[in-house]
Order: sequence, then C-alpha cells, then structure tokens
Amino acid sequence: MKLTSFHINGKKTFITLTAIIFTALALTSCRTKETAAAKYFESMNTFMKVQCYGDNAEAANEEAQKLIGSLEKLISVTKPESEIYALNHAESYPVEVSEKTAGLLKTALSIAENSDGAFNPCLYPVTSTWGFTKKSYRIPPQSELDKLLKLCNWRNVKIEGNKVTAQPGMMFDLGGIGKGFAGDEAIKVLKQYGIESALLDLGGNIQTIGTKPDGTDWTIGIKNPFEEGAIGALKTSAGAVITSGGYERFFIGDDGKRYIHIFDGSTGRPVDNNVQSATAIGSTGTYCDGLSTTLFVLGPERAVQFWKKNPDFDFIIITSDKTIWLTKGIEKSFELLVGEDAGFKIKVIE
Ligand code: ADP
Ligand code: MG
Repeated sequence: MKLTSFHINGKKTFITLTAIIFTALALTSCRTKETAAAKYFESMNTFMKVQCYGDNAEAANEEAQKLIGSLEKLISVTKPESEIYALNHAESYPVEVSEKTAGLLKTALSIAENSDGAFNPCLYPVTSTWGFTKKSYRIPPQSELDKLLKLCNWRNVKIEGNKVTAQPGMMFDLGGIGKGFAGDEAIKVLKQYGIESALLDLGGNIQTIGTKPDGTDWTIGIKNPFEEGAIGALKTSAGAVITSGGYERFFIGDDGKRYIHIFDGSTGRPVDNNVQSATAIGSTGTYCDGLSTTLFVLGPERAVQFWKKNPDFDFIIITSDKTIWLTKGIEKSFELLVGEDAGFKIKVIE
C-alpha cells in the first residue's frame, strides 16, 4: 500500500484508498478497544479493582478511585468527618446531608419498606455492640439487644429533601448497600470519560459497563461458599452481580458457634439460617447490594416470595444443603463449574 499508487490508475487508486481507510478504521477501533487500564486499591476496608477499556481509560480509572475514596467521607460509620457519623451523633434533628447521602438513605429505606425490615439500614446500635466495626467481638445478652433494638426502627426516619429526622439514639449502618452505591458512583465517573466497557470488582461486588470490548457478555465467577474457587459462571451484561456471603466476615464465639456480619433485625442476632451466599443480579449496584443482604436475611423461601412481588432482578441463593436456587431469567446463562460428585443441585424459580 504505497501512496504512489494514487497516480497509477483509477481502479488501483480506489483499492488503495479503501485499504487506507479500512486500516485507519481498524487501528482506531483497535486502539479504542485495546486501550485498557487496570487499577488495584484498597478502600472501604476491602480490595478493589477497576478495569476499563477506551481512550481515556487511565484518567478515568484515576478519577474513579478518587471518587470511591471520597465516598467514605459520606457514609463511613467510624470516620468522624463523615455525614453518617454526624447523623449518628446528632444532638438534634433535622440534620442536613448532601444530595448523594440523602438519595442513598432514601433507597435504603425503600428496600427496608419493601422487605418489611429484612433490610434495615438502622442497625448500627446492634452491629456495633457485637463488635463488628471495631473487630472486638462479643456476644451481648439478649436483654441488651432488646433495648438496643428499640433504637433500630427504620420507620422512625423521615427524609424531606436533604434533611433527615430520626429519633435520639438511632444510628445508621450503610454497610449492606455502600459498596454497591460506590460502584454506581464510580460508573457515572467512568461514563463521563466516555468509557463504554468496564469491569469493577469492589470486594467481590461485580459491576460492569456495557459488554466486553469484543461485544460479548462478561463471564462472572460465582464463589463456592464451601471452599476456594468458583461454583459457577454467569454470563451477563446486566450491570451488577452482587453477593453477600456468610464466609466474608464472622467470628467464632467461645461457644464454638460462627457469628456472621449479617443481622436479623427481629432478634438483633447474626443471621442463623441455611443461606451460605446470596447474589442479586440487576442493573444497579445500590439496589443489588441492598438486595443481596435482604435475600440473605430472608432465606430462600421468603426470598422467592419477595422476588415474585419485586421481579426486577434475578438471584442465586446457595443453601447449606448444596441447593443452588436460581431465578428463571438466568437459568440459561449460569454454568455449573463443579462436577456431579460435588453434590450440588439446581432449583429453578419460575
Ligand atoms: P458485604 O458488605 O460483606 O459484601 P453485605 O452487603 O451483605 O456484605 O453487607 C453486610 C453489612 O451490612 C454488615 O457488615 C452490616 O454493616 C450491614 N448489615 C448487617 N445486617 C443488615 C441488615 N439486616 N440490613 C441492612 N444492613 C445490614
Ligand atoms: Mg449487600
């Protein structure tokens, strides 16, 4: 393909021009699709990885990481400079918060309402007395939990505009929804940089933009809750695949029992049902993170009832008896990666 061929004859010139144009197009699209940037960092007490594809991948990634870091200033329960900290230590109400925090609180309260309190963003008096925030664990007596539960009634929270009113002593814990929210906010930033393809792994919460650079669905591993490795692979471009696992954070009490970090708001005690992990699949991180915690608390039978009333997501729940509960929308895109001898069975929910 020499430029001199322009001058030789018409047909050859056409072919040469076409070749130049195709090569240029191919180069541009290769550059767009192959310019990838990956960033690994620690934030919100967990490891995160943002991998995106596009011309501005590097800069976009940088901004996304900064943004995630800045969200701790909104929702951390332990950082005195955060808005949730201010709300949790308020001497009077209403307390004005930023639009982002108000929006997140509204979403959290709507999931609480829909799940009849299985998801409860006001459990901090309880979760903190068990020592989960400071990792100094204890098993509080039920009488203490009963008193604290009186401070956990999410129905007592009112939000008007950005102004939050709660009852004295109430405290928010957005740990069940915060990482998904961070993912949604990071995705907004990446999109501002023109990123059309990205994979974010925020401590096991997977969120995506678009499809893989080659136009096909992402393949996302679903962790085996019983041992290392994946139990299955899900092909999807839904946007968010978010898992709550009992294996993630727990302590073993003096009584030899395992106490996990997901709580049953009706007892004030760590959930003790047959759920090993619960995954919500849908379009946004905030909603799916809230749902993953909700499904875990509900357990499979009540989760099915919840899903029938709110069919705007899919789920995978793995129970102790090695049943994998799958909603019908993802039946065909889920592939089991363990052999028959592992003893898992799939139950499709219609
Ligand atoms: P992870 O954040 O470990 O991925 P989850 O999304 O399930 O898992 O969030 C668990 C966190 O949610 C807990 O550490 C606690 O901060 C908070 N939490 C615990 N129980 C509940 C509940 N019933 N409703 C809402 N949030 C909860
Ligand atoms: Mg969650």
